[in-house]
Amino acid sequence: MDVVIVGSVALDDVRTPAGEVKNALGGSAVYASLAAGFFARTGVVGVVGDDFPEAYRQVLVSRGIRLDGLESAPGRTFHWSGTYEGDLSGARTLDTQLNVFARFTPKLPDAFRRAPYLFLANIDPDLQASVLDQVPRPRFTLLDTMNYWIQNKRGPLLSLLPRVDMLVVNDAEARQLSGESQLLQAAAWLKARGLRGVVIKKGEHGALVFWEDRLWSLPAVPLEEVRDPTGAGDTFAGGFIGALALLGRDAADPWPMAASLGTVLASFTVEAFSVQGLTRLDEGRIRERYTRLRDLTVMHEFPDWGWTGPTSDGGPSFRKKERT
Ligand code: AMP
Repeated sequence: MDVVIVGSVALDDVRTPAGEVKNALGGSAVYASLAAGFFARTGVVGVVGDDFPEAYRQVLVSRGIRLDGLESAPGRTFHWSGTYEGDLSGARTLDTQLNVFARFTPKLPDAFRRAPYLFLANIDPDLQASVLDQVPRPRFTLLDTMNYWIQNKRGPLLSLLPRVDMLVVNDAEARQLSGESQLLQAAAWLKARGLRGVVIKKGEHGALVFWEDRLWSLPAVPLEEVRDPTGAGDTFAGGFIGALALLGRDAADPWPMAASLGTVLASFTVEAFSVQGLTRLDEGRIRERYTRLRDLTVMHEFPDWGWTGPTSDGGPSFRKKERT
């Protein structure tokens, strides 16, 4: 196993201007594992209730996701309902029912404990901590969270920061957690708590990737139609950690490449409801969109101009150099 992901496995009710689904397959671990599974052998740790459809389990199994760590418990599956309005920039949570997650204690199968890459996807920070307790220090640990846990479990969440390598949050969450309004200051605040890196996602405006003293900024893939943003962040993070696992420990600066692949996969998630954007992907579509994202940013060396500075002759400060 290369990547282990603990997070929610959910039945979602989602309404957006493009339509509505009920009891759709969702949850942070579902989106993240489908994305990571493109690049790495991936296993899920979580729990479902006795109402979880076999067909949903098969969606994961058919993509090669290992479910040995997915427990079945009596009761109802985690259930989230949310709605998006206007520019679809943020979900409004209508209801969160933890159901079987309220009594869940993760138990990692042996093969999962030795996995080098661990993603603590969005779920109760106490559960994220209990997974960390069961693994000898992995090569790389990524942590995600959301406003619900920042508000309700701030202490346990902050105590996780020194135990992981990198945090992935959206801009609003970075501000909420740090109390800083500027994103660079929010990232500095977070890194001062023991993280080596932070990813701040900005929805359709891309992402900032901080690693030690480096920073990269990358755009999102511009899309004609966004139908359901649910799972974009989880898909980004799953693609990111899966790509890191495939790039391997010897890759120099794997962060922008991993973030670009996460961005590409997330762009497919938001084009369809539930996980449909991810389950119908093939190599050609992933490559084509990666190239489109790469070509968005074209920056050349600074031009070979001369600098006169402000002058009284009414001319500009930069001028083409005189040919001699
Ligand atoms: P995202 O849009 O990437 O932030 O993630 C959306 C997914 O997160 C949905 O499929 C929900 O089932 C799941 N989710 C929503 N609220 C929570 C929560 N409090 N804890 C864990 N997962 C959640």
